[in-house]
Amino acid sequence: MNDRHGHPYGLHRVLEPGGVLPQPAWRLDASPEIYDNELGIDVIRLNIDSASFAQLKKEANGDADAIGRRILQIVRERGKMHNPVTGSGGMLIGRVAEVGPRFPGKLKPGDKVATLVSLTLTPLVLEEVKRVHLDTGQVDVKGHAVLFETGPYALLPDDLPETVALAALDVCGAPAQTARLVKDGDRVVILGAGGKSGLLSLYYAWKQAGTRGQVIALEAGERACEDIRRLGWAHEVICIDATDPVAVYESVSRVTGGRMADLTINCVNVPETEFSAILATRDGGTVCFFSMAVRFTTAALGAEGLGKDVNMLIGNGFVPGHADLTLQALRESRPLRELFESRYA
Ligand code: NAP
Repeated sequence: MNDRHGHPYGLHRVLEPGGVLPQPAWRLDASPEIYDNELGIDVIRLNIDSASFAQLKKEANGDADAIGRRILQIVRERGKMHNPVTGSGGMLIGRVAEVGPRFPGKLKPGDKVATLVSLTLTPLVLEEVKRVHLDTGQVDVKGHAVLFETGPYALLPDDLPETVALAALDVCGAPAQTARLVKDGDRVVILGAGGKSGLLSLYYAWKQAGTRGQVIALEAGERACEDIRRLGWAHEVICIDATDPVAVYESVSRVTGGRMADLTINCVNVPETEFSAILATRDGGTVCFFSMAVRFTTAALGAEGLGKDVNMLIGNGFVPGHADLTLQALRESRPLRELFESRYA
């Protein structure tokens, strides 16, 4: 029955505790029968948020089956894939199963879509985890999800492999924030520049900082550093551990002649990088914390303790037009697309 009237923000799906929004709720009602303002989706694949996947992988000692069992357990307990340790989710792709009469847009059953809201607020039932891809954090599943009328989504493009689109769309807020923040002539530091969000952000930072600007890519993995060098979108590529603030400070100071960054974008998927991001940035500059592993208290108290007058932004995952802007980067740059295909296709 889809004539039941749903709340725009999905309050009708919250089971526990009562009266909160779906994202902070502990448990959602994920029953597949949709309300009049919902979209029912037969789920094909999940892209587990990178901070969450790194945590699950560590907890399971890299055992794919154990990660799959843990995902099933979380979803069974919570009615959503909301990692209780990291607090983060991811997103999914699937086929439209049913469209409520009040769901906006022109979707029809059978359309392939990617949800652009976090799995932490997406009602989800999983019948089966078919395969956990340890190298990409993607998980083939059979299940059913629900999207509320306020939840953005994108039709999956037919010119890109599904797994590539999924990987890129999961982080589409980062390049969109970067495109919004970087001005001509800016000195930009990207932490975790070799990952999904880092590379896409690098593309727009390089494009917008212009010839007067300076783009500095920081990344831990030697192979990812090589990938960044090959793309050629950074004046400096520094292979470094972003959890080592002193080393990050000294490196950025060296390559900027002590001026430090106007803007630092944090795209790392592990905890304890707040101090590095803050120290890499000049007084009056801006840090954009896209990473889900960032702690508000550490960032706020850290900046205070260091006497750093930096603006700190939480990297909102939603920016109007973010999906198109992200896919555009992959279409404009063949090397970027090839790199994504080699990693995620
Ligand atoms: P990703 O593809 O896994 O990239 C993370 C990058 O950080 C990798 O290149 C990784 O290198 C690098 N890294 C890991 N540890 C490092 C260290 N100690 N020092 C320097 N670099 C290090 O992750 P992603 O999908 O782009 O996501 C990045 C972050 O954004 C995650 O925290 C994720 O949760 C968050 N996120 C936020 C939103 C939002 O709405 N704000 C949405 C989606 C994702 P290796 O591969 O060599 O380890």
